[in-house]
Amino acid sequence: MRAIRDLLAVALACALLGGSLGGCAHGGGSRAAATTGNASASVTGSGTSSASRTSTLPAIAPSDILEPPSYQGFEPLPIFTYHTVDPKLKNFIAITPAVFEAQLKILKSGGYNAITARDLVAHQTSGTPLPPKPVMISFDDGWRNQYVYAEPLLKKYGFKATFFINPQPISKGYPGYLTTAMVRGLAKDGNDIESHTWRHLSMIRTAGQDAATFQRKNITQLTFSTSWIKRVTGQTPVAICYPFGFYDTEAIGMAQRAGYKAGFTVDEGVADARPWDAFGLKRFTIDPTQSLADFRDRLQSGPVPVTDIQPPPATRVAGITTTVSADITAVPPSIGHLTMTSGPSMKGLHVETRDGRRYLVAVIRRAKTGLRTIEVRGSDAGGREYVSSWVIVLGDPVPK
Ligand SMILES: [Zn+2]
Repeated sequence: MRAIRDLLAVALACALLGGSLGGCAHGGGSRAAATTGNASASVTGSGTSSASRTSTLPAIAPSDILEPPSYQGFEPLPIFTYHTVDPKLKNFIAITPAVFEAQLKILKSGGYNAITARDLVAHQTSGTPLPPKPVMISFDDGWRNQYVYAEPLLKKYGFKATFFINPQPISKGYPGYLTTAMVRGLAKDGNDIESHTWRHLSMIRTAGQDAATFQRKNITQLTFSTSWIKRVTGQTPVAICYPFGFYDTEAIGMAQRAGYKAGFTVDEGVADARPWDAFGLKRFTIDPTQSLADFRDRLQSGPVPVTDIQPPPATRVAGITTTVSADITAVPPSIGHLTMTSGPSMKGLHVETRDGRRYLVAVIRRAKTGLRTIEVRGSDAGGREYVSSWVIVLGDPVPK
């Protein structure tokens, strides 16, 4: 279905490629690898597959969009991640202003209300109500094209966005990045300027790095980022977006010690606006292969209510082989076609019953250490897709 994870797998080079290729997400599980096998047969439901993916721009009418999913206290907050909006640049995460505008039209006609990271944190920490049908539009990496091409369209449709920036290249005036004046202008227009660390360094400790030194260095850089944003915009940033989407419990701890209240990932799925997962907020990364129907599918998607995930999300696992399991007992029968994927290194997907509870179980057997994304997906007969994803770290990652 969706090949974005595969496309993003090459994004590690993004920091080196600069403005010509704005991108910073990690590659996760391949969608094509693990099959549903027994899992699909074991879970009732008659889900549908997603709409065909084309790059054309067929209109999506409000009647084509399902109302947000509502069950088990879930507060759906679809968060979209943009990198490059430019009519000329072509890469795996660049879209044209025309596509961006078509997506904004869907949000507008569907009655969605754009909130920022700051709004979300206020909701999570102080109970400030969110508007109905909240959505979040986020931009990573602070590319100038975001200001030149996306900002005018945001204004046109009355949306505000959250910009996760790296102050270091901006303060040095590197080409292709926002200028300091542009950052100030975005903030004045009501957009939210948040932290993507000082200079886009990975927050995952690699083999041979001393933990205390690593943490001290990272927190210092986060403090730099916070200070710069506060100085330029007048507002203290409250959220971090993990560079490359790399994070684990240690990274979350550093973010918390630096004063952040929320952490944004590139794990695919609709975020839950409740506070329980404030440092593992899922987002949908936009890429040029997605059709507007794909955009709509994400907008209206729901979570797969898995529990008792082992190994727990964002944890480190010794070695490069591990058994992954997730309790699917609470998954409604209406959600069918359940799958769990993590690229070709995941094998033997099946459903196990333990003490009357049902688990999706599979084995990840990798050739090397590093971050792995695990996704559980399903769909229902009404055309809604469901996804929950998370990351684990196998062994000590090798320095890049
Ligand atoms: Zn980035």
